[in-house]
Amino acid sequence: MNSPVSPNALMPVTPRPDIVFTHGAGARLFDATGRSYLDWVQGWAVNSLGHAPAELVTALTQQAARLINPGPAFYNQPALDLAAWLVAHSCFDQVFFTSSGAEANEGAIKLARKWGQLHKGGAHEIISFHSSFHGRTLATMAATGKAGWDALFAPAMPGFAKAHYNDLESVRALIGPQTVAVMLEPIQGEAGVIPAAPGFLAALRALCDAQGLLLIVDEVQTGCGRTGSLFAHEAAGIQPDIMTLGKGIGGGVPLAALLARETVACFAFGDQGGTYCGNPLMCAAGLAVMQTIGTPGFLAQVNTLGERLLTGLRALSDQFGLGTVRGQGLLLALDLGRDQAAEVVRLARAQGFLLNAPRPHLLRFMPPLNSTAAEIDEGLGRLATVLGEVCANQTSGPKHTA
Ligand SMILES: *Cc1c(COP(=O)(O)O)cnc(C)c1O
Repeated sequence: MNSPVSPNALMPVTPRPDIVFTHGAGARLFDATGRSYLDWVQGWAVNSLGHAPAELVTALTQQAARLINPGPAFYNQPALDLAAWLVAHSCFDQVFFTSSGAEANEGAIKLARKWGQLHKGGAHEIISFHSSFHGRTLATMAATGKAGWDALFAPAMPGFAKAHYNDLESVRALIGPQTVAVMLEPIQGEAGVIPAAPGFLAALRALCDAQGLLLIVDEVQTGCGRTGSLFAHEAAGIQPDIMTLGKGIGGGVPLAALLARETVACFAFGDQGGTYCGNPLMCAAGLAVMQTIGTPGFLAQVNTLGERLLTGLRALSDQFGLGTVRGQGLLLALDLGRDQAAEVVRLARAQGFLLNAPRPHLLRFMPPLNSTAAEIDEGLGRLATVLGEVCANQTSGPKHTA
C-alpha cells in the first residue's frame, strides 16, 4: 500500500502519524483524505480561536496586502498597536516582540543579566525550577528543568540553578550573591499541568522583593486567556517584573513577546533585536487575537467551558477509576494513574479525535478558547468511548510511579 506521506526530506525529530492535514475550521481539522478530526491539541495551545478564525484570516490577508515587513528598525502600526494593547491590559510598560516563546525567554534572560550588570554588581544567576519548560535554544534549555536536558547538547550554558516547584525554602536556599532573578511558569505545562500552589507566587514575589531579585513569569503557555484570566499570574494577585508570552498570542502564527516593567526594561541600543521582531504581519494577527480575547464576556466563557470540561473529566475519572484532574480554564489534564496515555491518544486519533499526552500517564486538553459547549460535550463523549476501550483491553499496564 502506498503511504500518503513521503517524509524523507523532513528531519525526523518527532514520531508523526501517517496523516497529512490540509485544512481546518474552528475545533475541526481535516486530512488529505477529507477525514474530519475534533482537535484538542490545536497546535499545542497555540490556536486560541481554533483553526482559520475569521478575525485572524481577515487581519492576516488585509495586512499581507498592505505591508508584510518594513524591517525591525522602522516603526509599523500593528506593532505599535499590539504593544499599546498589551501595556494597557497588564502591569508592564514595554514590549519586545519575537517569533517564538524560546526567543522571548532568551530575551528575558538577557534582560535580567543586563539589569544585574547595571544594578546588582554583575549578578547573573537565575533560579528556575525542576520539571520546568522554557524552550529549545541553548540558554532556555539550560533554564529548563527537564531530566537529562543538561547533558543533551553539553556543555550546558551556566548561570541557572534549579529549585523545587512549590517549595519556597528550596528557592531561598539557592539565593547567593550572583542571583539576579527567579523564573517560573504559573502552571508548569509540559511537566503535566502542575499549578503553582495557592500562595506560592505571592511568597516568591515577597522573597524577590526582600532580596532585590527580579521575578520572571513564563506565560508562553498559560497567558492570553488560556487559564481563564488574561494572564495566569493575575489570579495570584501579583505583579511580576518580566513576563513572556507566546503560543496563543498569535493564534497559530509565529509571534511571541517579552514584557517588562519600566524599571527593568534596560536594553540599550544594539543589545537586542532580530530580523522578524515586531513584523506587522504577525503583530496584526496578534492584535486580532488579543482584541477578541479582550471582548467583554470572552474570558468568563472560557471559565464556564473550563468548568464544564473539568466536571466532565472528573466524572470520567470516577467512572473508570483514574487519577486526578487538574489545571485552570481550558488548560486541563487528566492523570490516568498508569502509563496508557499514548494508547489513548492513538485510539482517539483513529476515531477522529486529536489529543496530547505530555507525560506517559497524562492527557492534556487544549481546546480552542471559543469552543462551544456542544464541542466540549462531544470531546467528553469521545473520550469516554476511548477510555472504555482502553479499560476493556486492559492487560493491567504498568502502574505509573514517579
Ligand atoms: C512552548 C513553551 C515554550 C517555548 O515556546 P516555543 O514557541 O516553542 O519556542 C516556552 N515556555 C513554555 C512555558 C512553553 O509552554
